[in-house]
Amino acid sequence: MSCDADIIVIGGGHNGLACAAQLARAGLSTIVVEANDWIGGATGTHEVTLPGFKHDLYGSSHVWIHANPYFRELLPELAEFGLDYIWADDAITGHPTANGPGIIVYRDVERTCESIARYSAADAQRYREIYDGFIEIRDGFVKGMFSPPAPPSYLPSAMENSSEGLRMLRDYNLSARAFVEENFEHPEVRNVILGWALAPQITPDQEAVGQTFYIMIPGLHEYGQAIPRGGSQMLSEALAGYVRAHGGQVLTGTGADAILVEDGTARGVRLTDGRELRAAKAVVSSLDPKQTFLKLIDRAYLDEATVRNAEAFSFGAIGVFRAHYAVNEPPRFLNGEEMSATAFQRIFHSVAETCDHYADIALGVPPKNPFIWTACWTLQDPSRAPEGKHTLIIDTFVPNRLADGRSWDAVKDEYAALLLKRLRDYTDNMGDENILASYVDTPLSIERANACLIGGASTGGERTLSQTGYFRPVPGYSQYRGPVPGLYLTGASCHPGGGITAMGMVTANEILDDLDQ
Ligand SMILES: Cc1cc2nc3c(=O)[nH]c(=O)nc-3n(C[C@H](O)[C@H](O)[C@H](O)COP(=O)(O)OP(=O)(O)OC[C@H]3O[C@@H](n4cnc5c(N)ncnc54)[C@H](O)[C@@H]3O)c2cc1C
Repeated sequence: MSCDADIIVIGGGHNGLACAAQLARAGLSTIVVEANDWIGGATGTHEVTLPGFKHDLYGSSHVWIHANPYFRELLPELAEFGLDYIWADDAITGHPTANGPGIIVYRDVERTCESIARYSAADAQRYREIYDGFIEIRDGFVKGMFSPPAPPSYLPSAMENSSEGLRMLRDYNLSARAFVEENFEHPEVRNVILGWALAPQITPDQEAVGQTFYIMIPGLHEYGQAIPRGGSQMLSEALAGYVRAHGGQVLTGTGADAILVEDGTARGVRLTDGRELRAAKAVVSSLDPKQTFLKLIDRAYLDEATVRNAEAFSFGAIGVFRAHYAVNEPPRFLNGEEMSATAFQRIFHSVAETCDHYADIALGVPPKNPFIWTACWTLQDPSRAPEGKHTLIIDTFVPNRLADGRSWDAVKDEYAALLLKRLRDYTDNMGDENILASYVDTPLSIERANACLIGGASTGGERTLSQTGYFRPVPGYSQYRGPVPGLYLTGASCHPGGGITAMGMVTANEILDDLDQ
């Protein structure tokens, strides 16, 4: 029987497309199938407020993708397909504070330390030491991030034989809060660092994730932060353009309904419109394990433990709540011009209040005193709005289900007003006259827009030890190979987890290895 392509990739988010692009680069023919009418998944950019205002609805800050060696190799070729990264000038993230000048994280570590030293010289010194420690482990860390995950005993057994290794291992076992309280003394510095450590949707007292700060901020200094000109979407558009230029197809508006298995091998995909596409060499799913294991593969090919593990795969209780605004001017922060000129801000409270935010999430109530992130990407990329105008994001983490049974649809406007009020406390120009239009996304609407973003989680699945590395997405299938020959796994639910990383290229490399190409 004739085949439609060498490889069929399910899901047209940036990872599915990056996987297809890497395979196309090696000379294989590919078809990407995407359920939505648009590609890009969690890197989508949409004009949701007013015409000409391009809002990144999901992933917008591109950091780790620039550490991906395979993507770095491909990047120059993507320029032809419209991908043009704009790098943050030195100031990357501002941390407005109620008192003092605020803290700014710059690409330059020295300037960052100077900013911290305005609050505490000892904290600035400690920050520098931690950054230097990351530089020592950077190459191993990046290699581990962009390779199939190592067995659980690998890291401890590599580190347990030296006192320095043991110390680091011990620190990795801390919670983010314990790490922050052990290492930093000034309350404002602690707030900033804890906010960073929690960015990957972990909770403050979750043990064994103390290393997130070790990695998050040093990563920024090392790789910088960039956004694609025209919106996050341009990453996926460029990857799709690359796939098409290499003879591949990207089909939209038709999802995968089943993975076709014949003679025990994955042979193709049945689409929701009834069509069947046949693959000569392999099928790749970039979807969450609930869909891949529990819906698309016939249960006859799964053992009981795998079904149980896929059923137990958790997206956690935390979802993203995000309000978008079309504005006349960017927020003007009371902390001064440099803070206002920085595109991305994190406004966190005291450590205790941050812990209260998560206590509210655990109780299923909208956090009463929320921390917020704001991003005015038009400061970096004016092409995202009509001349002189700006886009603005204000977001936070919330419980994805409300304990009182109300729908986020019913509460969203009231809650968006609370987030805006919080920003108003730190700025002097965010009155109604500055706002032209708004649009609000909640965990519910985020999930409606993309079946993989369950509960509005940004992680592709909770970042707990039981869902990390060798256990991700489920034990036995962490090496990007699925339960039947010819079926491969990729995307945010696989190692290294959610984020704009183009890790789909790592899955592609495994397929090419298996095919001896
Ligand atoms: C609100 C939010 C903010 C974020 N912010 C950042 C950030 O600033 N920086 C960062 O690095 N990361 C961020 N992330 C995480 C990052 O954006 C995602 O982890 C990453 O983009 C996931 O890419 P993916 O291709 O694996 O999955 P997705 O982008 O989710 O792609 C999966 C695709 O599959 C499609 N699909 C679903 N079901 C089917 C089906 N049955 N058949 C066919 N297609 C199907 C979906 O429509 C989707 O297009 C954020 C995520 C969210 C939700």
